[in-house]
Amino acid sequence: MSNRPIYLDAHATTPVDPMVLEAMLPYFTQHFGNAASKTHQYGWEAEAAVKQARECLAAAIHAEPEEIVFTSGATEANNLAIKGVAESYFTKGRHIITVATEHNAVLDPCGYLRSLGFELTILPVQPDGLISLDDLEKAIRPDTILVSVMAANNEIGVLQPIAEIGQICRSHGVIFHTDAAQAIGKIPLDVQAMQIDLMSLTAHKIYGPKGIGALYVRRRDPRVNLAAQLHGGGHERGMRSGTLYTPQIVGFAKAVEMGLEEMKDEANRLRGLRDHLLRQLQTVGGIHLNGHPTQRLPGNLNICVEGVDGQALLLGLQPAVAVSSGSACSSAKVAPSHVLKALGRSDELAYASLRFGLGRYTTGKEIDRAADVAIATIQALRQGKS
Ligand SMILES: *Cc1c(COP(=O)(O)O)cnc(C)c1O
Repeated sequence: MSNRPIYLDAHATTPVDPMVLEAMLPYFTQHFGNAASKTHQYGWEAEAAVKQARECLAAAIHAEPEEIVFTSGATEANNLAIKGVAESYFTKGRHIITVATEHNAVLDPCGYLRSLGFELTILPVQPDGLISLDDLEKAIRPDTILVSVMAANNEIGVLQPIAEIGQICRSHGVIFHTDAAQAIGKIPLDVQAMQIDLMSLTAHKIYGPKGIGALYVRRRDPRVNLAAQLHGGGHERGMRSGTLYTPQIVGFAKAVEMGLEEMKDEANRLRGLRDHLLRQLQTVGGIHLNGHPTQRLPGNLNICVEGVDGQALLLGLQPAVAVSSGSACSSAKVAPSHVLKALGRSDELAYASLRFGLGRYTTGKEIDRAADVAIATIQALRQGKS
């Protein structure tokens, strides 16, 4: 383990916490029943575990257990929310509002709906990555059925003013969806106080297993009607059919519970490490911070580096440090990050960007080492150029 790269890509995914794994294990081999089997103990055991997990997740976001719909992750939750609303409310209107810096799992379903005849407004962001509430309010029309704005950005960590957005949407009678894949377990989320109607969650960014997530679906004041996107046995109140994945659901709840317990202390610890990393990196000059300096996830640092080639920069950090440029999903493409472009960065700067994602297992020693490697790489690349 010790000579593997230092893992600083916590926005892409995180390891499963040993305590999460321990909670999951009995549900693979021993309590393996189908939670929908009503006629015997095996089914009851699984059902009880799912019920407990549902209650735990609901409590974490101030929702009711019946408002949690389990999905395979945030991608599916976003698709269910956006397409489900479009299909249910198209007789009321066909206008949807979202933001330029959203994850592709929001932008792509919205683009798909546009290809079917829906109208899309994609709000720009300010140079700090925050949307303008004025812009949002002006974009809402009588035929607007949905506003989708993420809680925490996966590239630049920026936290949108969710409570204010919820207030605006509620006052106009528009359904408000938020992709909280990066936010759950890291910042407080309250669907009542923030007037959220739909919220996408996932487990694998907070030390839970991959392949499990949930959509919060408001049941009253106002009730949100969603058209199912997966039809079958009618699980999850008809909104998402398919046998429930008991071990993953148990692990998801355990991960959220642990995240909430440590949230405050861990935020302070990560903020300290992150700010230290930035100060170290800034000593080489020509470092631009992407996203709001304080209104961001404590474990996120995203910078553009002047005067270096982006590809060479990432290569230079190998094999010592595992970081990414932009998101895991888009960095396979040879295009600059759409998030950094939305901040107004030039192509050249956007290519030369680094996203550091610090997490539960990141140590001060690792941060010092990562800073040393990054600084040496940047200096070598700049000298090679001149
Ligand atoms: C990771 C992520 C997703 C996708 O979640 P999966 O559970 O991997 O499908 C969606 N939105 C955001 C903001 C993310 O960070």
